[in-house]
Amino acid sequence: MIEHFPLKLAESRMLAPAVRHMAFERADGKPFAFVPGQFLQIHFHYSDGKPTKRSYSVATIGDGTSAPVERVEIAVSYVEGGAATALLSTLEEGGSVDASGPYGRFCLMDADTNTRYLLVATGTGVTPYRAMLPKIREAIAARGCTFALVYGARNESELLYGEEFEAFAKETPGFTFHPCFSRVPRPVPRPNDRNGRVQVALGELSPNAANDIAYLCGNPDMVDEAFAMLKEAGLPVPHIRREKYVSSR
Ligand SMILES: Cc1cc2nc3c(=O)[nH]c(=O)nc-3n(C[C@H](O)[C@H](O)[C@H](O)COP(=O)(O)OP(=O)(O)OC[C@H]3O[C@@H](n4cnc5c(N)ncnc54)[C@H](O)[C@@H]3O)c2cc1C
Repeated sequence: MIEHFPLKLAESRMLAPAVRHMAFERADGKPFAFVPGQFLQIHFHYSDGKPTKRSYSVATIGDGTSAPVERVEIAVSYVEGGAATALLSTLEEGGSVDASGPYGRFCLMDADTNTRYLLVATGTGVTPYRAMLPKIREAIAARGCTFALVYGARNESELLYGEEFEAFAKETPGFTFHPCFSRVPRPVPRPNDRNGRVQVALGELSPNAANDIAYLCGNPDMVDEAFAMLKEAGLPVPHIRREKYVSSR
C-alpha cells in the first residue's frame, strides 16, 4: 500500500566522493514495509515554490520477507545543479523530508523457474540488489538457481557496497560478483574484475533464453544497450526486467 510519511535522517556516510548513503527512520513512528527492489519518492519544492519529487531505490537489507524494516536506506548520487541533490546533500542528521512509497515491480518473483539470474547495474542502480540479498540467498537455497551480479563503476572509489557484495559472494555459493571498471582499473585487481563496460562482462556470461532472467538497473543508456543485447541473445522481453534512473522532473 502506498503511503505518505515523514522521514528523519538517522545516520549517513559517504559511499563514494559524490554518493551519500542515507539511513532514515519514519518520523511518525510507523513501520515501513517494502518488497526488495522497490523505490520511494522524496517530495520537496523548487525555490519558486513549485512541488516536485525524485525517486530513490530502497537499499535496506531486511529479513527477506516484506516485513517492516526499522530503517529506510537509500544511496543518493549527487548531480551537478540537481534540485534533490541540493536538498539531500545538505540534510543534517535529525532533519526531515517528506516521502511516499513503496513503488515499483522491479522485484524477484516467486513464480520464476529459471536456473540463472543476471543482475546488471551501474552506479546507484546496484541498491535494489543490495536490498534483495536475503531473498537471493533464499532463492539459491530453495531452487538451486544461481545469480551473477555485473556491476559497473568508473573506478574503485565509485564501486558502491563493493566489499558487501564481495563478502556475500564468498559466503554464498551460487552468487558471483563481477565488478566492471569503465575508466580506471582497480590498482590491485581481483579475480572477477573486468575492465570496460558492463555490456562486455554480460556478453562473457553468454546470456541464453533457456536459463536466464535478467534485471537491469541504473543509467538509461546502459539499460537500453543491455536490453538490446539480451533480446538479441533470445531472452523474451518479460525475462528482461528494467529500472531506468531517469530524472522525474
Ligand atoms: C525508479 C527510479 C529510481 C531511482 N533511484 C535512484 C537511486 O537509488 N539513487 C539515485 O541517486 N538516483 C536514483 N534515481 C534518480 C533520481 O530520482 C534523480 O533523478 C537524481 O537523483 C537527480 O535528481 P536531482 O534533483 O538532483 O537532479 P535534477 O534537478 O533532476 O537534474 C539536474 C540536471 O542534471 C541532469 N541529470 C539528472 N540525473 C542525472 C544523472 N544521473 N547523471 C547526469 N545528469 C543527470 C538533469 O537532466 C538536469 O539537467 C532514480 C530514478 C528512478 C526513476
